[in-house]
Amino acid sequence: MTEFEPVIGLEIHVQLSTRTKMFCGCALSFGEPPNTLTCPVCLGLPGTLPRANAQAIHFGLMIGLALGSDLAPRSIFHRKNYFYPDLPKGYQISQYDEPLCRGGQLGEVRIHRVHLEEDAAKLVHAGSSGRIHGSDASVVDFNRGGTPLAEIVTEPDLRSAAQAREWLTLLRTTLRRLGVSDVNMEEGSLRCDANISIRPVGVTELGTKTELKNMNSFRFLERGINAEIARQEALLRCGGQVVQQTLHFDPQTERITSLRSKEEAHDYRYFPEPDLVPVATSEQMLEAARSAMPELPAAREERLQSLGVSAASARQLAWRTELGDYFEAALAADGAEPQPLANWICNELVARVGEDDPNASKVTPDALAKLVALVRQKAVTIGNAKLVLDRLVADGGDPAAIVEAEGLGVMAGGDDALDPIVEAALAANADAAEKIRGGNMKAIGAIIGHVMRETKGRADGAEVTRIVRQKLGL
Ligand code: ADP
Ligand code: MG
Ligand code: ZN
Repeated sequence: MTEFEPVIGLEIHVQLSTRTKMFCGCALSFGEPPNTLTCPVCLGLPGTLPRANAQAIHFGLMIGLALGSDLAPRSIFHRKNYFYPDLPKGYQISQYDEPLCRGGQLGEVRIHRVHLEEDAAKLVHAGSSGRIHGSDASVVDFNRGGTPLAEIVTEPDLRSAAQAREWLTLLRTTLRRLGVSDVNMEEGSLRCDANISIRPVGVTELGTKTELKNMNSFRFLERGINAEIARQEALLRCGGQVVQQTLHFDPQTERITSLRSKEEAHDYRYFPEPDLVPVATSEQMLEAARSAMPELPAAREERLQSLGVSAASARQLAWRTELGDYFEAALAADGAEPQPLANWICNELVARVGEDDPNASKVTPDALAKLVALVRQKAVTIGNAKLVLDRLVADGGDPAAIVEAEGLGVMAGGDDALDPIVEAALAANADAAEKIRGGNMKAIGAIIGHVMRETKGRADGAEVTRIVRQKLGL
């Protein structure tokens, strides 16, 4: 049976967190009363003139730098004409064949282009509760109309839904780090369309693609792409053909429905916006964008690896900025080996705080660093250190004080208390003791287990082994 390979390219719309809208002075703010942030320009009234937002262009250049794009010395705005109630002018000001940024790469995915445009207003389908003249009403909130957007278009380099989801996570972290957007999928400040085709493995030619519109969470993106891959595969297997169209994925029912047949560029009757001058990117603008660049996740990942953090941990810490910040704060406090610290954060702490920001938890980076130091100094066993971490997560505090108060400290070498307990364990497990004497060191597990139970995990395994050997004259 023919094996198929999915091919996926993403188009991502990012709402830029500028102070004002793309072509007018209206403030940008989410959640204000409807139609309070408008003016004649963003309402598309006749006789008004747009002016491009310098901060949006600055953010666009920063995105281009982060993605390694070529920044155009000159780019222009076009009118993209179509009719819809959320678009009062009857056209969207966007960029067409002279975008702000071209090319680039993020992770394993090449970037096709990045351009600037304005968002449409928000259509709210009020349903029967909003009946007007006896019919179901849809109303328009123009507050969102004119919000600056950067549209990022990738090359079709992704090969699975899971990879698309992971890559979008990297892009989101990168954008968040740049500080150019809230990048919140649920609130719509990050929106993603997925272009999907499949082809028989080994074929280099691309298959006919469909476009899944506006998935508003990472989970739905992955599920939607998988559902569409399955739909296309079933179609091709029974001799059908994929029709190029725009689709909607309903996460509730997992069903895919057609929104419209795919429109072509000429349907939009693009033409240069006569009311705006071209964007001439000056050396000064480039310099401002360059000097505003923070360390990006990909660079942070490399730097953490060069400190001795494993590849897997470095990726987790760099891609979740808040984890990376927590790690660096803890490292600054302890200064000891990075990898054990990374393990405690990526495994134990994340297991306890989940998706929450550990910086907002009761465990300060300083406290975690101290706990890891106690483990390293063998002042507490790993098992008991996890109990201390439970306490830190619940109540905060100082790890050494918790170890002291709860009596969780290691019973280590020279501790008289340990000798009689090992003695008793040997007596209670006479056959294990016999095996050890006969050279079967595996049998020591039973003795260590017994001692651990008696000491509530406070004994150091290596120390118990040493005492056993001593007592059995080995
Ligand atoms: P359109 O003209 O339909 O907008 P583009 O060439 O601009 O198509 O590409 C839009 C997006 O679709 C890009 O992200 C691109 O990588 C992706 N894409 C293009 N062709 C394919 C294909 N055959 N399969 C999957 N994705 C594709
Ligand atoms: Mg396109
Ligand atoms: Zn306005």
